[in-house]
Formats: sequence, structure tokens, C-alpha cells
Amino acid sequence: MTQTNVIKEKSSILLIYTGGTIGMKEDPVLQALTPFDFSQILEEVPELAKFACKIDSYTFDPLIDSSDVEPSLWKALADLIEERYDDYDGFVILHGTDTMAYSASALSFMIEGLTKPVIFTGSQLPIGTPRTDGKENLISSVEIAAAKDADGHALVPEVCICFDNLLMRGNRTSKINSDNFRAFRSENLAPLAEAGISIRYNRQLIRIPEDWSARPVFHKELDTRVSILKIHPGITPQVVRDILCGQETRAVIIETYGAGNAPTKEWFLSIIREAAESGKVILNVTQCIAGSVNMDIYATGKCLKCCGVTSGYDSTTESALAKLFHILGTNEDAAAVKALLETDLRGEISK
Ligand code: ASP
Repeated sequence: MTQTNVIKEKSSILLIYTGGTIGMKEDPVLQALTPFDFSQILEEVPELAKFACKIDSYTFDPLIDSSDVEPSLWKALADLIEERYDDYDGFVILHGTDTMAYSASALSFMIEGLTKPVIFTGSQLPIGTPRTDGKENLISSVEIAAAKDADGHALVPEVCICFDNLLMRGNRTSKINSDNFRAFRSENLAPLAEAGISIRYNRQLIRIPEDWSARPVFHKELDTRVSILKIHPGITPQVVRDILCGQETRAVIIETYGAGNAPTKEWFLSIIREAAESGKVILNVTQCIAGSVNMDIYATGKCLKCCGVTSGYDSTTESALAKLFHILGTNEDAAAVKALLETDLRGEISK
């Protein structure tokens, strides 16, 4: 971690509210939690006025619980960021926590060559409740989104999740706790920044664009014909066949044991082989919350590799799904899809 000279003056931030717990407050009349008007954000979080930056807000209509998130929301977010890209120095997206890791992963693949921060945040307790974690999450996100170095470049030109004092690369995170304030983890990559008395940036890990003056490329074509198969003792041939050989499916993520291991029974391998031979892409990610797939260690992993399964390395399932949607959206050929899966596109895998 390094202490960096951070310039906060003259930054402008677009605060985008999509829904979720963070934007709720108690309505005394209805005696229920209802979304508050984000154009009044300074009344709710007066601390934001202390930053020397301009904050505009944009509220999605309708606001949604993030369990209802669909790729259409990701496209709408990409459209909005593309449209307003030149007007702001950074973007903060308020989003429900349940699917935040999927959305942050998706946006990371949909925007190539990012030169400005896109920070997702939310909270476990509504912003209008006394012990809320929402204010701290929002304030840290805005400070990080506004932070520039001495050359005027964004300190973190990446899609990230900022939660409970940690800034994590979006496509490395998973939601790991449903009631604790530390709701997210990035087990396979250290945080990009940590907020303590000051915000300490881990600059060796932060990805920077090849050309700061180039506009990013927005990829909005997504193909969602992907399934997920979680291996478990007792799994039946019927279940494996239904998921792997579905007509509509172009790719299947297999969540395997440990370093990428799965049953070696002949029925299992022959279904994998059949699916791979019919042109389906099969991607191996581990069920473990940390660590990587390595199909060269055990005979079980080697069998999968021989059947045509591709390694997902240390990818999270959320990131693997978003990456497949993105790659399948623009590639017809299974060999090209596999080659891209094995390539580190946005810092999502370590090889
Ligand atoms: N169910 C809510 C959502 O994901 C939970 C939250 O906001 O944290 O939208």
C-alpha cells in the first residue's frame, strides 16, 4: 500500500442510484422503508458537501431490488456512462448487495480501456437508519472516485466495489456475508485500496489504461446462453445431462472441487465429452472461495482437460459468468471463445 498525494479539487462525480437497501429511509407515515429522493442526497449525507467536488445524481426508474437485476440494467448503465463519460471524473453506482458482484464483473468486461473510476457500493443497513454502513461506504466511494494523481489522472481507473473500508476490483469480488458489514471479499486479489485514517492505495495492483487520452470502447452485446453446474456427491447423470446438453446452452460453467476436480466415472466424462464435441464451451472454476483451478495436478483434473474443458484459473463464478456473456456476445467460434477465456482481459484472473 502506498500513501499518494491525492488531488480532490474540481472533480465531478455522477452518483447513479439503481435501488437496493442503501437508498432507503423510514417513512414515518407508512412506517416502512421507502427509497429517498437522491436529488436531496446532501440533506441525507451532509458530509459530502465537504468534498471539493461537484456531485450530480441520476436515479433509475423503477428502482429495483438487485435480485431483479438483468443484463438490460448493465446495458443501461453502460449507455449512461458512455453518454456522460466526458462530463464527469468518476461514477459511483449505488446498487443492492445481492448481485453487486455480478454487475461489477459485467461492467468491467463491457467497458474496455477505462480511464475513470466506476465504483459500485451499497449497504447492509439503509442510509436513513442510525447505525447505517451506507454513509461510510458512500463517502469513501465518492472520495476514491474523485481522487487524481499529480498529473490529473484518476487514481483508480477501474470498475470496483467499495465496501466496509475496502476497495476491491469488481470482477474479483463475491458477496460472502448476508448480515455482517464486511459483505464482500476478494480472496484471490488484495484490495486496491483501504480506507483508514487516510485512504491507502495499492498502486502496484491498480490497472492503468494504455492511452489516457483514448475513449473507452463500450461492448454491449451479451449472450446469456450460459448455465452453471455445481458438482456434488450424489449428482445424477440426468441432472448433468440436462445442464450440459441443453439445446439452448452455448457454455457451461462447472463449479468443481478444490483445484478443479470432478468425478472420474465414465458416465460423467462421456457427457462432458459429448457436450464439448457438440461445440459447447465448458469452463472449470473452483467451489473454494480462494485458490485456483489447476487441471494438471490430479488425474481427475487431467481427465476434464482431455475431455475439452477450459480452465477458469482463479476466477469467481460471478466473473466467469459475466466474461462468458461478454465473449459469447461477439464470438461465434468455440475455439476463439476458449482462447479469450484463457486470456486475462480485465485483471479477472491470475495465471
Ligand atoms: N436485497 C437487497 C438488494 O440486493 C439487499 C441489499 O441491497 O443489500 O437489492
